[in-house]
Amino acid sequence: MLIKEGHYLLIIIFLYIIVLGYAKYVVSQNIDGLHLKSGLLRQYVSEVHGNMFTMKCNKCKRSYVSKTAVKTVGQRCLNIKCFGKNKNGHQCRGILYDTILDWEHQLPIEELELSELHSKMADLCICLGTSLQIQPINLVPFNAKKNKGKVVICNLQKTNCDRKADLVIHTYVDDLMMSLMKILGVDIDKYDEIKDPTNINHEITDWSIYETDLKKVREIKRNTTKSKKRKKSETKFPNPESETESPHTNQILKPSKISKLNNIDNIIK
Ligand SMILES: [Zn+2]
Repeated sequence: MLIKEGHYLLIIIFLYIIVLGYAKYVVSQNIDGLHLKSGLLRQYVSEVHGNMFTMKCNKCKRSYVSKTAVKTVGQRCLNIKCFGKNKNGHQCRGILYDTILDWEHQLPIEELELSELHSKMADLCICLGTSLQIQPINLVPFNAKKNKGKVVICNLQKTNCDRKADLVIHTYVDDLMMSLMKILGVDIDKYDEIKDPTNINHEITDWSIYETDLKKVREIKRNTTKSKKRKKSETKFPNPESETESPHTNQILKPSKISKLNNIDNIIK
């Protein structure tokens, strides 16, 4: 694979931190398909600007993994028939298109909605290796703050969103993530082609986001919001009669002091 070592390592790290439960979801602006190739499951990633290894049907709207990078960009026709079947069992008559956005295109609705739902539920959003200049996706991480979540930005250069973040780290993302994995005690394996759905030996992989998937996440979001509101209400109106309650149960913790770091060494120390 022609993948820069650093970039490749970063993607494998995403896979690990999700498998191990440290991260819940990835929102990617990359179109290189590396998240897909790492073996990350569809339910954990939104690819808001498309993916050069996926194709989407113009009729049934299902998406499929391509064995090779598609030959077009800008959501153009690939002249490949859809692999899907209709409800009546007949072959879909749709044609597959590439999924890579051009400047004038709207972001894919489902990918954007999932990004927003997950960011609104997040305790922490970490923005890695992005200048956060492309709207509207640059606003998504800050949804976390609506529910008392925090935002961390790690980028080599300053970004226009730095002042809104709780922590800013100007360094190489690879260095940060490798250091983080060291602290967490996570060993990083090498690329595993068996997990890669673009591997020629794999069956055609469905890469669609279905309405049922969206409904599940909407439901989780609703329950999370209710639970947070309930906790907030309990915090505001503690029961003075309760003798079994810990004296710290209703303590409101102040957010820790906002810090801005210019070097990863400051964190490791
Ligand atoms: Zn189709």
